Amino acid sequence: MSSSNLSRRPTRVVRNASTSTTARMAILVIVGAAVVSVAQSLIAFNLLDRRWPAGAIDMEVQLGAAGGLLDGSPDWDACAAAALAEWNSVLGPTGVRFNAILGSTRTPAAPDTVNSVFFSDTIFGAPFGKNVLAVTQSFVFLQNGIDETAESDVVVNNAKGFNCFRGPNAVGASPLGAGAYDLRRVGSHEFGHVLGLNHPDAAGQQIDAIMNTFISDIDVLQTDDIQGALTLYGVAVTGIPFPPRNEVLGFFLTLENEYRDGLMRQQDSPGFVNAEGSAVWFTEWLRYVLNGCSATEAANRVLLQVGELGIQPVCGVVAAGALTFPPRNQSVDFLNTLDAFYRDELGRGVLQSFIDLEGKAVWLQEYLRYRVNGCNDGDAVSRVLQQIRGGGTAPLCVV
Ligand SMILES: [Zn+2]
Repeated sequence: MSSSNLSRRPTRVVRNASTSTTARMAILVIVGAAVVSVAQSLIAFNLLDRRWPAGAIDMEVQLGAAGGLLDGSPDWDACAAAALAEWNSVLGPTGVRFNAILGSTRTPAAPDTVNSVFFSDTIFGAPFGKNVLAVTQSFVFLQNGIDETAESDVVVNNAKGFNCFRGPNAVGASPLGAGAYDLRRVGSHEFGHVLGLNHPDAAGQQIDAIMNTFISDIDVLQTDDIQGALTLYGVAVTGIPFPPRNEVLGFFLTLENEYRDGLMRQQDSPGFVNAEGSAVWFTEWLRYVLNGCSATEAANRVLLQVGELGIQPVCGVVAAGALTFPPRNQSVDFLNTLDAFYRDELGRGVLQSFIDLEGKAVWLQEYLRYRVNGCNDGDAVSRVLQQIRGGGTAPLCVV
């Protein structure tokens, strides 16, 4: 008995990112093997970089009749609906929730803007892999960062044997003997893909999760699954604590004064980002970078936030004590990107600062490095000022 994939990695179908106001066209893009490019060693969940807008996610469940389901579910739809309800029980803070629509007789299609859950011999005509139990296929609107999901269909493989039960279901194990799979946990897994979660084990993590690639004895959502969903929808449950905005801004204004009065600089460094924008958005960029995002991913997320699309998910959870700060050129690149965005997208006028761009990048990063390593605001400010005045790097505030 070979093991079975709980599902293939979801096929990704994207729409053109055209800004045209005419009907948006669907473009099929199939993503192959997961390409993970992160500077940090991630220790929790794996996100697909797409999510639903706030509100109800209607799921048309049309799995049909079944008799003799072990947990007493009257039919397949009820078995799958229990998985949707389990997700809903933890999605409260996210702003999204599943809405189960049972008994639909609509013919599933993709794309049709309907989220269908159904048994089939094929994935809309494409064959299932040999060991694949179910697949989630999604359409997204490209957003230059976190895409917006437009449709997700869950296709359950007709060729496999299912029932609905709790308890052991690892390779070959089931109350019915080898070859019978619990549709409810398969549903929990696929609905995790619908939300935007990927397989943590595919990103090299070893953690208990319903979202791991292979079906197992795990029959309920695990902490990692829940934290992944919360993180994806912008609920801070994990990650590195960052200082409040007003303290970073206070530091930045102190830095301006130091450049003027201490370093005797002229107010002649042009830029388009004001002090508050520099303090807030550099901090956000660094927060994304330290939480597993590449410099580019982090910049894309910040620009989405600047564009008022809300707080974006971090890219993962990194091991404690393993913080890797980005090289100086990446920090400067981000501030240049932010400057261009303020000029070209926000239409801001030029401002003169005492601090050149590199000074902003270097000293903001130093201040934040002290802050995320245990220093309070006063300790971090005095350490940075000491460095600017030639006193060298000070020790961190944690032992
Ligand atoms: Zn899967």
